[in-house]
Amino acid sequence: MSEAKLRERVAAFGRSIFARGLTFGATGNISVRLDDGWLMTPTGSSLGELDPARLSRLDAQGRHLSGDKPTKEFFLHLAVYEARAKAGAIVHLHSTHSVAVSCLAEVDPQDVLPPITAYYVMRVGTLPLVPYYPPGDLDLAKAVREMASSHHAVLLANHGPVVAGASLEDAVYATEELEETAKLFLLLRGAPIRPLTAEQVATLRQRYPVRT
Ligand SMILES: [Zn+2]
Repeated sequence: MSEAKLRERVAAFGRSIFARGLTFGATGNISVRLDDGWLMTPTGSSLGELDPARLSRLDAQGRHLSGDKPTKEFFLHLAVYEARAKAGAIVHLHSTHSVAVSCLAEVDPQDVLPPITAYYVMRVGTLPLVPYYPPGDLDLAKAVREMASSHHAVLLANHGPVVAGASLEDAVYATEELEETAKLFLLLRGAPIRPLTAEQVATLRQRYPVRT
């Protein structure tokens, strides 16, 4: 896909994500890998009003080349790309239900959400919790890089999800699946849950390996 087309797709997905209340204010950011660098949503920008021509353009070393200044969370994106050579795009949101789950005290930090639906297993799989660090802390990038080498989706404690995909569509759809599953998980809190069995999960993983 050409860079011009990718710029339009980032803006279109941003509008759609914002319109559905999956992020708010100037939170949330999207990036896409190019042959020689990255496109990223700019700092202080609303995903609902992205101008394709003003997206931040970074070179292969992560230096800002053109467009508006990149999101202050650009280092999170670069940390995941460093760990995942095949990742084509990354979405990071402060989506309400995922953030709520990221604040729960009693979750398994190795895998925060149970496999309650097949699509969650197929699009997200396992979801480790990255310990809390203040925004901008370089230790956060280090922790994310370490976990991202074996997981395309991670949940930052008291903050939100960071999800990589082979394409922009894959990253957006996986982020949406994660948010919907977090919502279901919260709806089901207190009720006895019948998650998929280990065998059912294994069958799905074999038939539908996650594309990342
Ligand atoms: Zn954030």
